[in-house]
Amino acid sequence: MLDKVVFVVMDGLGDRPIPELSGDTPLEAAHTPNIDKLASASQCGSMCALGRGKKPGSDTSHLAIMGYDPTVYHSGRGPIEVAGIGIELQGGDIALRGNLGTVDHNWIIKDRRAGRIRDVQPFTEALDGLRIEDVEFIVKPGTAHRAGVVLRGRDLSDAVTDADPHELDLPVRRVDPTEKNPEAERTAEVLNSFHLKSHEILTDHPHNRRRTDQGLLPANFLLLRGAGTYRELPSFQERYGLSACCIAGGGLYKGIGAILGMKVIDVPGATGLPDTDVEAKFQTAVTKLPDFDFIFVHVKAADSLAEDGNYDGKKSFIEKIDRASRLFLDLPPDVLLVMTADHSTPCGLRQHSADPVPILFCGHGVRKDNVTTFGERACATGGLGLITGLDVMPEVENLLGRLPLIGA
Ligand code: ZN
Repeated sequence: MLDKVVFVVMDGLGDRPIPELSGDTPLEAAHTPNIDKLASASQCGSMCALGRGKKPGSDTSHLAIMGYDPTVYHSGRGPIEVAGIGIELQGGDIALRGNLGTVDHNWIIKDRRAGRIRDVQPFTEALDGLRIEDVEFIVKPGTAHRAGVVLRGRDLSDAVTDADPHELDLPVRRVDPTEKNPEAERTAEVLNSFHLKSHEILTDHPHNRRRTDQGLLPANFLLLRGAGTYRELPSFQERYGLSACCIAGGGLYKGIGAILGMKVIDVPGATGLPDTDVEAKFQTAVTKLPDFDFIFVHVKAADSLAEDGNYDGKKSFIEKIDRASRLFLDLPPDVLLVMTADHSTPCGLRQHSADPVPILFCGHGVRKDNVTTFGERACATGGLGLITGLDVMPEVENLLGRLPLIGA
């Protein structure tokens, strides 16, 4: 009987035929003996995370495949990213993503990453706990030049514009309300005051004086974007009765785990980049099986490589995933393995698309079909047919024998 799940999401895995790969997709062209062996023992299919003809973001698609309808539960990227860097959110908090950048005297942006600064902690520490009116600002470091910012207070709204113009040599944008109500107007005002105050604090920061002396760009502005309101979600454990953990390198994916109440496990070498240690992540997944019922493993880089149009890099990275997947060939008999993607990122498009992605369910008692390779077109002929993201967890629950009976 199946009662545990290893759930692997390979970000942006799906693609389209590429002439330079003889008309194969990077997944079809890649040498993947281990995943093909798993596919041969699986029920396979195709999956559109948000349904046919809908182009998923990574955040909405992850919510859907975890069984959380994004039209109900998605409230912006800010809260997810902020949860991913370990800030505990409360209902009503407004969360934003931020970059430590460099501006001149007229607030014209000279560098959006302050010369690719690596450690922003001294700067976020100087801003953490700042109060504007009765609003508390929680400011914590993210990876490299990034920071997470939470506004905690009464009567706040996420209906505000971004301060970050996303381009160089443009001025920092004034934050404006996008709705006509006192909450949005007040939040915009508070954020504009924060920019003024935080710029003063950062400009005078001793680390910046030192940076300027060394000829480095000062990190003198925290550019904010992506405001979202945090709403508490029913946890994964409450929803499915399964204790869950999350193994991911990228902040957004740790954030998905965190907002669903999963235990976020840091694996050394999990960078979210092509150099990530996939082997260490999959090994950790196997090692954690005695402690958790559901192990969510996220692997990012196929998506980033596709966004660079790098089909050879994507193919090689898929082969790296395959080598680590040998660790899944001998899972204990009570473990269901699910391998899929959140969306397609065709290298020719360099962005997400609505093309379906392959999915496999491998485990004791699963109705194995005739698919013998894990590819977009091979899996489209599989026994599962075409499913949506919201169908995935009910399939898992069914295979675990956990679905309630409808009727008598
Ligand atoms: Zn994605």
